[in-house]
Amino acid sequence: MDRNRNEILNQMGITQWVLRETMDGFGDEKVTPAVSSLTDNTEPAKHPSTKVTLPEDERSEIIDQQTDLNTLRASVAACTACSLSQSRNQTVFGEGPEQADWLLVGEAPGQQEDRQGRPFVGRAGQLLTQMIRALDATREQMFIANTLKCRPPGNRDPLPEELRACEPYLLKQIKLIQPKVMVALGRFSAQALLKSDQPLGRLRGQVYQYGPNKIPLIVTYHPAYLLRNPADKAKVWLDLLLAHKQITG
Ligand code: URA
Repeated sequence: MDRNRNEILNQMGITQWVLRETMDGFGDEKVTPAVSSLTDNTEPAKHPSTKVTLPEDERSEIIDQQTDLNTLRASVAACTACSLSQSRNQTVFGEGPEQADWLLVGEAPGQQEDRQGRPFVGRAGQLLTQMIRALDATREQMFIANTLKCRPPGNRDPLPEELRACEPYLLKQIKLIQPKVMVALGRFSAQALLKSDQPLGRLRGQVYQYGPNKIPLIVTYHPAYLLRNPADKAKVWLDLLLAHKQITG
């Protein structure tokens, strides 16, 4: 299994030398525990999109009443709360077991995801799959979701009103899955979950406690960023090991 892991890490561009050296440093690094205890209360939107037919808090309440992932998936599929509903091919709810230990949260579907209706199936997704395999795990064991359930046209950044409109779905996914650990992939996911405007580099390297159940939350770089900046793969590997430690102790 070790050989397999090394092969995967090599494919990811993380040589053993890099990994060992960084891990030495990592052991000494202070991981700030529980810097904040977050709530998952949804704030009413200050600037509701023109597409929102119900007041934001009323919509959140209805979404919060969904009792399982399948009903929630159906409301996502029918959602017209923001203008992305007009340009999408289909919604991308996310996938994985309802009882998953891990919940990975990305940014938004890209072109491939919008075509297939599944999260992380493009190039960034292939890298994510490799990273999961390097942990001796499989994609199928984890729940993989996104902050936005619809593709922003041309893969542009999510807009604040889109993030606000979509937030109740992610909050409900978290409530239903109750993962043992959450990983925010990239700036938009991290900032949305932490209600922060800090840059990603400042947010990573800590274990946050998310929501009333204090779910450990780790922040790391987005796989698409890693495709452009492979030198940061070793950092992501360390973040994933930190997340793994939250489950294995
Ligand atoms: N990037 C994301 O953040 N999510 C996906 O599903 C695909 C690419």
